[in-house]
Amino acid sequence: MTQHFIVIGNPIAHSKSPEIHTLFAAQSGIDISYQRQYCPDDAASLNAVIEAFFQGGGVGANVTVPFKQVAYDCCVARGGLSEHAKVAGAVNTLLLNQALLKNGTPIAQAIYGDNTDGQGLVNHITSLGWPLMGARVALIGAGGAARGVILPLIEAGIAELTLANRTLNKATALVTELSAASATINKQQIKTCTTDDLKGDFDTIINATSIGLSGDTLPLSDELKCHYAYDMMYGRELPFLQHFAVCGAQTSDGYGMLIGQAALSFERWTGHTIDVVQITKALQAH
Ligand code: NDP
Repeated sequence: MTQHFIVIGNPIAHSKSPEIHTLFAAQSGIDISYQRQYCPDDAASLNAVIEAFFQGGGVGANVTVPFKQVAYDCCVARGGLSEHAKVAGAVNTLLLNQALLKNGTPIAQAIYGDNTDGQGLVNHITSLGWPLMGARVALIGAGGAARGVILPLIEAGIAELTLANRTLNKATALVTELSAASATINKQQIKTCTTDDLKGDFDTIINATSIGLSGDTLPLSDELKCHYAYDMMYGRELPFLQHFAVCGAQTSDGYGMLIGQAALSFERWTGHTIDVVQITKALQAH
């Protein structure tokens, strides 16, 4: 029987998720339909779309820009949230809470939210062979993407984290908020500074800013060094990666993170484990 999935966003036409999930289904040998779902940019419409989808027999949904926070609110009021979604304050994966359904909870009240973005990053970095256990990591950016990866990075065993952002008080506020939300996040383990002031030797530096969209470049100090540089953006020239490649670092864009977070959603919905390396090769060959 065909299992139905959607990705909800606005805009949504550009989404690569149907192509990615179709490859996952082929690798797993299951029959799925995965469609792009446009939604007007308001909370009532998102709630209506989600409810209609699950009432109609849908198995799982991804949520993308600009709905990740609204989807979080939707799940708080219904079937609950995973620890990663709670700490991220955002949901990218929706499914039904089977325990609630067994207790007779109506479908509309059993919609549950998870967030696989951060673990998708950690899995990609690990697949590259870049060590995270005991690593000194610098994360640049304090927006939604940075917020979602801090807990998974700490769970992966990094030794210390420096969070740098153009606007320093956003970085310090984020650390205060996350350490209050999760017992795993120790405020003392995270230093904050402005991006201009980020200096020193790190194992890994991750760019989680949206600067690549503007074509501008980050002000990076000559005294900033790393073995591995990761930019969450993909699909364009990334001056951040070029800067560190010239200094001898290994580099990666965020395409593998995109596939990694999708694989975790798929696994959550279907129970099938994905060979992400093989899928990434297949997509890059297209
Ligand atoms: P947000 O808008 O929430 O945050 C943007 C961040 O970028 C802020 O920290 C902001 O700093 C900083 N920033 C923006 N412009 C500049 C600039 N000119 N100079 C310095 N800092 C700047 O965006 P998101 O966190 O949602 O997304 C960040 C990036 O991550 C995007 O490029 C997105 O495409 C990518 N991403 C990739 C994913 C993947 O699967 N590969 C998944 C999710 C996101 P300030 O606080 O000072 O404004």
